[in-house]
Amino acid sequence: MHKDSTLGFATRAIHGGYDPQAHEGALAPPIYQTATFTFPSAEAGAARFAGTDPGYFYTRIANPTLRLLEQRVAGLEGGVDGIAFGSGMGAITSTLWTLLRPGDEILAHLTMYGCTYAFLEHGLAAFGVKVRFVDLSRPGVLEAAISPATRIVYCESPANPNMRLVDLAQAAAVCRQHGARLVVDNTYCTPYLQRPLELGAHVVVHSATKYLNGHGDVTAGITVCAEAEVAERIRLYGLKDMTGAVLSPHDASLILRGMKTLHLRMERHCDSAEAVAELLAAHPAVETVMYPGLARFPQHALARQQMRRFGGMVAFEMRGGVEAGRRFLNALQLIQRAVSLGDAESLAQHPASMTHAAYPAEVRRASGISDGLVRISVGLEDAADLLADVRQALDVTL
Ligand SMILES: *Cc1c(COP(=O)(O)O)cnc(C)c1O
Repeated sequence: MHKDSTLGFATRAIHGGYDPQAHEGALAPPIYQTATFTFPSAEAGAARFAGTDPGYFYTRIANPTLRLLEQRVAGLEGGVDGIAFGSGMGAITSTLWTLLRPGDEILAHLTMYGCTYAFLEHGLAAFGVKVRFVDLSRPGVLEAAISPATRIVYCESPANPNMRLVDLAQAAAVCRQHGARLVVDNTYCTPYLQRPLELGAHVVVHSATKYLNGHGDVTAGITVCAEAEVAERIRLYGLKDMTGAVLSPHDASLILRGMKTLHLRMERHCDSAEAVAELLAAHPAVETVMYPGLARFPQHALARQQMRRFGGMVAFEMRGGVEAGRRFLNALQLIQRAVSLGDAESLAQHPASMTHAAYPAEVRRASGISDGLVRISVGLEDAADLLADVRQALDVTL
């Protein structure tokens, strides 16, 4: 076990939580592809269920391959423990079901991933949780909105898809004054670019489908907690009893493999996204570009404060709205038309008709997701090829 948090990020992404000597010397962590674990005696089985023996008993609760992934990501995020799930939505729903009761209130930033919005608006609300959407990117809004019933404050930063940021240290401080917990979806950044727990947040959730795995071949989620007791509750209530959204050990091993290059991939995603954002900003077919790395981005100073670099996601508004956006998407030759993000392949999509179609149209507009917004997940191809594809597709719309 590499417990030494003084080791660098890449070293921990490659070695964290794994000792080959505990596994016959295997360099690559073995895949414990088993649903259940046998007990040497009836008493031993009872002790595992009672928690007095820490051994494994059933993969939905815990599995060695999943534990390695959980501990590795928890270490990178600066948390005490993690829980792996079969999808990002599995992580988000299990976490929020566990931390909220009927009568509690959740305050959520008004721009977020479409299925998370749908879960809050329909799923949680149907169970008697009061759900309020507020613009947490604006200073002072959280202080004014938080109430004694607020148990959870929830946000993405940058928010999917319009890239608005939330001041995480500030939000965490307000939550702590009011006895609420700050839950941050860190999918866009990964712990390489931003570590909300170090800024005071209580829980981080991820769609590991995206950058953590990075190769577009798995759906997965992970929750990382600053408090061991919260992680234990999410595992036992959320995962065991409420959603059962368990990850396959085989998929966990693919994510462990993907994460060995997370630091290299993120640097390249950032380099190319910066170049794409600059090209977009200078092109006459584009109305506005939303990328935190641009000096003219309204929250650029905050981005510099809480992010290492600015990520691989770029959103922009075409002059000519939806129609121009559609022509741009159809003109792309290298960049693929697809939802999801964080893969080696660059992907482009239209949130209003795709990932954020779950929002009613007026709510979507009020949430800063305009009909002409286009989102690009800038991949790992040669930057010159990406720039050429973006440029020719923009030129087509002029
Ligand atoms: C994709 C995504 C999710 C949902 O994750 P799944 O793995 O698709 O269930 C949640 N949050 C953000 C920011 C995402 O991009």
